[in-house]
Amino acid sequence: MCVMEFEKKEIVKKSKDFSRWYTDVILKAELADYAPVKGCMVIRPYGYALWEGVQKYLGQKIKDSGVDNAYFPLFIPHSFLEKEKEHVKGFSPELAVVTHGGGKELAEPLVVRPTSETIMYPMFAKWIQSWRDLPFKVNQWCNIVRWEKRTYLFLRTLEFLWQEGHTAHATADEAEEETLARMKMYQDFVEEVLAIPTIVGRKSAAEKFAGAEETLAVEALMPDGKALQCGTSHNLGQNFAKPFEIQFQDKNGQMQHVYQTSWGLSTRVIGALIMAHGDDNGLVLPPKIAPIQVVVVPIDPTDKKQVEYAHNVAAPFYGAKEKAAQSAAATVHIDDRPQYTPGYKYNEWELKGVPVRIEIGLQEVKSKSVTVVRRDTGEKSQISNLKSQTEIKGILDDIQNNLYRKALKSLNQNTHEVGDYGEFKKIMAEARGFIKAFWCGSAECERKIKEETRATIRAIPLDSESATGGSGKCIYCGQPATSRPFFAQAY
Ligand SMILES: [Zn+2]
Repeated sequence: MCVMEFEKKEIVKKSKDFSRWYTDVILKAELADYAPVKGCMVIRPYGYALWEGVQKYLGQKIKDSGVDNAYFPLFIPHSFLEKEKEHVKGFSPELAVVTHGGGKELAEPLVVRPTSETIMYPMFAKWIQSWRDLPFKVNQWCNIVRWEKRTYLFLRTLEFLWQEGHTAHATADEAEEETLARMKMYQDFVEEVLAIPTIVGRKSAAEKFAGAEETLAVEALMPDGKALQCGTSHNLGQNFAKPFEIQFQDKNGQMQHVYQTSWGLSTRVIGALIMAHGDDNGLVLPPKIAPIQVVVVPIDPTDKKQVEYAHNVAAPFYGAKEKAAQSAAATVHIDDRPQYTPGYKYNEWELKGVPVRIEIGLQEVKSKSVTVVRRDTGEKSQISNLKSQTEIKGILDDIQNNLYRKALKSLNQNTHEVGDYGEFKKIMAEARGFIKAFWCGSAECERKIKEETRATIRAIPLDSESATGGSGKCIYCGQPATSRPFFAQAY
């Protein structure tokens, strides 16, 4: 085997250097690469296929909930952004601003969208006239630019991809309901498709979206004990409706401002996916999101019998796919490249996290069987080709469930209920994880905790004890608690 092949596979152990392992996996599994512009990244086809999986599943959920896609411009007049004071304050430090166009200085600078509230809502004001126009809902898949100083592949880049949903309602209650439903939608998606367990809840005032009344978030715990936000849903109240004059005539003929929500999920979730399930050999993808679910490798691709048999084994999967029985189909790829050894191919598909590998050699052809290797456990089994289709579907389901169970076990092991600040500091200095602790609601205590431990409030769960603090005392100052949030160091 040549040196180039060896280098291609080389990734540092996950347990040895988590951060290097993460970038090694992204670069070597060909998910993404660094771009010529510092802080930007190129999403390569295999990485983009993961995003397409997100678009397929989540996009369907969004459409099924009655929200269609639209597209709004990339450029926002700077004055639009200034209309909501908290919003402009929150986003100003990370704006990219266009001052010249067509060789001339622009009369008004244009902001490259950091989020689209302010470019969408003047249109909402135009389109919404009456109570009959409500609720009004629209979704957009697009790119976003935020000038971040510290960047990290997938997790924080100057430009990233996301979807953003925006809704307008006649009442505050409806907006509240929508905010909650979208948080649930993200939670279901992240748990069911990405196989990552989450915690959900409300953000503190310091952590909420600039311009929102309330932000609900879905948070996951990564193997290094840091939390990663996997989707947010904002109740905007009338904070944007008033400056943008989004009004409707109610049933009594009175003019009213609408109540709004916005909600988004970005390419960050691909970072979560890589971290949550990957191992020393590379990516481990849950079957539901894997671009290739089953790879079939004829050990000798120059042997016609083996190649023919490989196609034979793969055929029923394609058949199921044609019938559009989505849940019954599997995405199968036959790797019959003659220029690589079987060992090289096994390593490559392991690195790329393909859930199931089928090996086909002389033996398999002769006995009409297949050798099946699971990516998550490395388990190898021999099954008859007749039964392979149903058995492999069973294995794919089992892998999906197994990955979720493993991640849930890790979440539970690394979530601590803490009543003593000394213990809080000790946990944050060592293994980290989620810490559930009482808080008095003061921004000062929140800030001090962050300064001393790096932990921020990730989510205040919505159950009554967590949302009110019950009879607890603040972990920092000992004053009566107003909530019991989950704290963690965040990505
Ligand atoms: Zn306090």
